[in-house]
Amino acid sequence: MKIEELDLPSEAINLYLQAGIEELYPPQTDAVEKGLLQGENLLAAIPTASGKTLLAEMAMLKAIKKGGKALYIVPLRALASEKFRDFKRFESLGIKTAISTGDFDSRDEWLGSNDIIVATSEKTDSLLRNSTPWMKDITAVIVDEVHLLDSANRGPTLEVTLAKLKRLNPEAQVVALSATVGNAMEIAQWLEAKLVLSEWRPTDLHEGIFFGDAINFDEEQKFIERRHKEDSVNLVLDTVIEGGQCLVFDSSRRNCVGFAKKCAPVAGELLDRQNRNELEEIAKEVLENGETKLTETLAYCIKKGVAFHHAGLNSAHRRIVEDAFRNNLIKMICSTPTLAAGLNLPARRVVIRSYKRYDPNAGMQPIPVLDYKQMAGRAGRPHLDPYGEAVVIVKTYEELTDVLERYINASAEDIWSKLGTENALRTHILSTIASGFANCHKEILTFLGSTFFAQQQQSWNFEELLDDCITFLKNEGMLEQDNEVIRATALGKMISSLYIDPLSASKIIRGLEKTTHVTDMTLLQLICSTPDMRLLYLRNRDYEIINDYVMNHTEDFIEVPSPFKQIEYEWFLSEVKTALLLQEWINEKSLEKIVENYQVGEGDVYASSDIAEWLMHATSRIASRINPQLETECAKLEKRIHYGAGSELMELVEIPNVGRARARKLFKKGYLSRQKLAKANEKQLAGIVGPKIAQKILSYLGRETDSNGYVEPETLENKKQQ
Ligand code: ADP
Repeated sequence: MKIEELDLPSEAINLYLQAGIEELYPPQTDAVEKGLLQGENLLAAIPTASGKTLLAEMAMLKAIKKGGKALYIVPLRALASEKFRDFKRFESLGIKTAISTGDFDSRDEWLGSNDIIVATSEKTDSLLRNSTPWMKDITAVIVDEVHLLDSANRGPTLEVTLAKLKRLNPEAQVVALSATVGNAMEIAQWLEAKLVLSEWRPTDLHEGIFFGDAINFDEEQKFIERRHKEDSVNLVLDTVIEGGQCLVFDSSRRNCVGFAKKCAPVAGELLDRQNRNELEEIAKEVLENGETKLTETLAYCIKKGVAFHHAGLNSAHRRIVEDAFRNNLIKMICSTPTLAAGLNLPARRVVIRSYKRYDPNAGMQPIPVLDYKQMAGRAGRPHLDPYGEAVVIVKTYEELTDVLERYINASAEDIWSKLGTENALRTHILSTIASGFANCHKEILTFLGSTFFAQQQQSWNFEELLDDCITFLKNEGMLEQDNEVIRATALGKMISSLYIDPLSASKIIRGLEKTTHVTDMTLLQLICSTPDMRLLYLRNRDYEIINDYVMNHTEDFIEVPSPFKQIEYEWFLSEVKTALLLQEWINEKSLEKIVENYQVGEGDVYASSDIAEWLMHATSRIASRINPQLETECAKLEKRIHYGAGSELMELVEIPNVGRARARKLFKKGYLSRQKLAKANEKQLAGIVGPKIAQKILSYLGRETDSNGYVEPETLENKKQQ
C-alpha cells in the first residue's frame, strides 16, 4: 500500500515521502486494512523495527485532523524524551507536542493546549488521579510496549490506567504496540482491539550460536578469524572490519565495563583519523558531564570507538553514547539487557555473552524467551545492513542444543497480569475511589473486573483481597464508609494525589507523630523506611559500619528495632545505608566519593535522589496536617535533595548552570546571595566559574550585554542614570 493513498493530511504524507517512506510495510498495511485510520482499536504485536511508531503516528495524525488529541504512553522517561524529540518534527504541520514526566501531584493543565502528549504510565496515572481536565479530550491513546503489563512494578499501574482511560473516554481509539508475546490475542481481547500479528521484519534476522570457532546458523557455519583470545572480542572485530556495528549484551554492569575495556585497544586500531578526531570530541563531552572514575573509563573507551551502557551511567552519558552509536561513530556498545527494552538502537550484529541473569532467590537463571527476542531483534539496521545477526555464545555442545531449543526455535511466553497482590491493589483501590471511578463495593468490583487481571483469571477471587485492602485503608483513615457508600477522606484524596503507596503514607504519618527530636537523618531514614524507596543492598562488610553509625546516633532515629530481630534489623540497616547516601548527597560530598563509598553509579545517585525528593515532598504535605514546623523542615530538605546541597546555597544553586559544586565555590568567595552575585565583577566571576558560565549567570540575573560581552555594573548604573 502506498503512503500517498492514505487518508492523511497531505503535509503529513509529504513529510513521510521526504523521509523516504513511500510504501507501507506489510504489518502496517494490515493495520490500515483493519481500520487504523477509521478509529478502530488495534494491538500490533510485531517484531522490533517493523514500523510500530509509524502506526502510532498515523493514528495520532488522523485523530488530530479530526480535531482530537493524542496521548502517547511509554514505560520509561528516557523513551518519553526519545518520542518527544521524534514527534517534534510535526511542528511544521502545526502539530504541537509536549512531554509530561514531571511532578506526580500536578495536573499539568498547560499541557492541554498540545495535540500530542507523551507521558510515562505513572505520570498518566497521576494525571488521572488529579482529574486533569484535558484528559477528557483525548481521542487517541497509544500504548507503547504494552507487553510490560507483565512487569511486577510497572504492569499494575499500566493496566489500571488503561482501564480508567477506557472508562473516561470510551470512544477514544486505543492503539497498543507490543513485542511478539505468546498471548497477544488475549491482550487484544482485553483491549477490545483487532490484532495485527506478524513476524515480518524489514531486514532478515539470522540467529546463530557461537561455538568452537564458528557461528552456527540454521543452514551454514560462519568461521570467525581468531584475532584475540576471547571469542566475543573476535565477533566484535569481525563486525567492525566488515563495516558494521555491534551491540553486546551482558548480565552485569561490571561485566559490561570490563568487556568494553577489553575491546578498546584492539577496536581502536581499526579507526581512521577522522573517526578518531570525532571520538576525541565526544570523549571530551563525556569528561565535562561526569565526575567519577567511571567517567574517565567511559571517555577512554569512547576514544577507541567502543562504550558501555547501563543504569549506573548518568543520563547525559547515556545520551552521548546512544547518539554516537546512532551516528556510527562508536562501533560497539556493551550493555545490560535494559538497553534492549525500548530504545531504538539497531546494530548489524548482536552478541549475547550471557543469557543468564542473577535472581536473588535462585542464583543465575536463563532469561525469558521474550527478553532474548528483544535483544536479538535489535540486529539489522533497516536500509543500512543487508541482514542482521544475533549470536549467543556458548561453551559446550550441550549448551548449544539447549540454546537452540530454548530460544531460537521457541516462541515467546505468555504474559501475566501482576495486579493480584495486596501491594498493587492497595494503591489502586484508593486511587480508583479517590478519583471517582467507584464509590461502593460493587462498583469497585466492576471496575476491577475490567482489568487485564480479571480477564486472565477464570475463577478469580478478588473479594477477599479487596476486603483486606479496604479494611487497611479504613483503619488508616484514608477511606470512610457510610452504609453502602465508600468515600476517600481528605487524607485519602491527598495520598492518592501525592502518588505514594498508602502503606508509605501510613509509615510517614506514624513516624511524624512519634518524633520529638528531628534531624536530617530522622527524616531521611523515615522516607527510606517506606515501600516506595529503592533501598541499597546491605553487603556483609557494610554491616559493621552502618551498625556503628546507628549505635552512635540512636537519638536521630524514630525507632531502632532490636538487633535480636535479625531480619528486621538488617532491613533497617539498609534503610540507614540509603539514608546515609542521601545525607552525603545533601551535604555536598562529591559524586566521586559517594559512588566510591556506596559502590553505585552516578545514575543510581540521581535515581535515588529523584525518588527521595518525591517522597520528601509527600512527607512535607503530610506534615502540613500534623505539624507545620515539620512541614517547613521537610520542604527545605526536599529542595536540598533536589540540588544535592546545603541550605545556605539554595539561592545560588537555583540559578541555571550553577549546580552544587559551582555554588559552593561562589559561596566560599563571598557571593552569599543572588544580590551579591548580580553586582559581581565579570572578570572575577569568570575566574571562579569560567567565562562562559559567568556570562550565563550574569545574563540570567538581568545584567545587560553588548556585542562584545558584558557591561560591568558601574557602567550599567551610569547607563540607567543617563
Ligand atoms: P519499531 O517501533 O517497530 O521497533 P520503528 O517504528 O522505530 O520500529 O521503525 C524502525 C525504522 O523503520 C524507523 O527508522 C522508521 O522510520 C522506518 N520505517 C517505518 N515504516 C517504514 C516504511 N513503511 N518504509 C520505510 N521505512 C519505514
